[in-house]
Amino acid sequence: MLAEIKGLNEECGIFGVWGHQDAAQLTYYGLHSLQHRGQEGAGIVVSDGKALKGIKGEGLVTEIFTEDTIRELIGNAAIGHVRYATAGGGGYENVQPLLFHSQTGSLALAHNGNLVNANSLKHQLEAQGSIFQTSSDSEVLAHLIRRSGFPRMRDQVKNALSMLKGAYAYLIMTETELMVALDPHGLRPLSLGCLGDAYVVASETCAFDVVGAEYIRDIEPGEILIINDDGLISERFAHSSTKAICMMEYVYFSRPDSNIHGVNVHTARKNMGKRLAIEAPFEADVVTGVPDSSISAAIGYAEASGIPYEMGLIKNKYVGRTFIQPSQSLREQGVKMKLSAVRGVVEGKRVVMVDDSIVRGTTSRRIVNMLKEAGATEVHVVISSPPIKNPCFYGIDTSSKEELIASDKSVEEIRQIIGADTLTFISLDGMVKALSQTEGLNGFCLGCFTGNYPTEIYPDTLQYYYQRG
Ligand code: SF4
Repeated sequence: MLAEIKGLNEECGIFGVWGHQDAAQLTYYGLHSLQHRGQEGAGIVVSDGKALKGIKGEGLVTEIFTEDTIRELIGNAAIGHVRYATAGGGGYENVQPLLFHSQTGSLALAHNGNLVNANSLKHQLEAQGSIFQTSSDSEVLAHLIRRSGFPRMRDQVKNALSMLKGAYAYLIMTETELMVALDPHGLRPLSLGCLGDAYVVASETCAFDVVGAEYIRDIEPGEILIINDDGLISERFAHSSTKAICMMEYVYFSRPDSNIHGVNVHTARKNMGKRLAIEAPFEADVVTGVPDSSISAAIGYAEASGIPYEMGLIKNKYVGRTFIQPSQSLREQGVKMKLSAVRGVVEGKRVVMVDDSIVRGTTSRRIVNMLKEAGATEVHVVISSPPIKNPCFYGIDTSSKEELIASDKSVEEIRQIIGADTLTFISLDGMVKALSQTEGLNGFCLGCFTGNYPTEIYPDTLQYYYQRG
């Protein structure tokens, strides 16, 4: 599905390098491959061992950086960030990496995720005299680090991290060190790789392939890596940790060529499609997927059902980004521009349409309508995730609860609204089994489906999510 027209958006992607002469250029390519995780802003900060220097801007990676600007970023280490703004809103000042200079040295931060206790911490820090440069939750960590009394930077960072609640994959760079930290539930993906003697970290492994790096392993929940010219060491900043990786990374957000905790995203989606073929079998002529993220599940459904997969919907890749247009009417216009039904494929056919999720329902209604207008005689909608009934507090912009169609409507009511002949969501158990036979429901965050979140949710966070929209 098309993120920007659906109301389901990833918040950010991060990439870092230590020990390579082309650090800025590698980060540029890495960020480019993570562009699907955020399109509102991007930045790169480099270290030459003595000072940090950064360039950032609003827009796409290719719009912000030129060969000349990348050449200005001289250094053997770099961190980069692509941003989709939710908590704290947009604006240049919120584009990351955030860069801080002080008497004792500089610090750059790149964050993917969302802190659920950011507001409480911010109030406490402001009461103690901190002045925030941005409205982003990510900046809280910098203030906590600066206020920590420990002599060594890594201990300051570990102490500061232990005060955060929520989802965070952080890259923290000083002139002489890169620190890589993942929250105690490992909600967001974060992997380590190498390129010759250099270390590389990225939100998704697809970035390693782009720069020719070799995957080493995923960062563990509650782990901090400290990388410097002496090498890499791993420490823990959280004593107890329970893995709860975001299920939507597999269902929808991550690129199909990425692997998360050893599971390839395309394969996971294909397995979800196969499960759907068992849970929702139909007599039909063609299976089609909503491009791009539902294609893998549609292939799985087709393979398991024996019904041929066809390209019944195509996406126009050359239309400008519509997600920055906030009104519903413009958003709906964007759907028409971006997606078309292929009459020659669906006319006179019974179609199984595979999609990864339904958020507001408006896009599904338009696509079903499009297929029917193109001559489909039946449209059976099958969804490779269960109904999304609850908001996400961890960095995925799932809209407010009021906007989520499944929050107060039954499957039959949703079917009527979207105009499908049938509508089936994969079962929670089926979705998890498609990924793993061994982890059970325990290895994943399923909060937006079940309402059971892996962390405590603070009242000020709840207030923020229930007021907007
Ligand atoms: S609530 Fe949903 S979208 Fe948010 S982290 Fe959990 S599974 Fe992912």
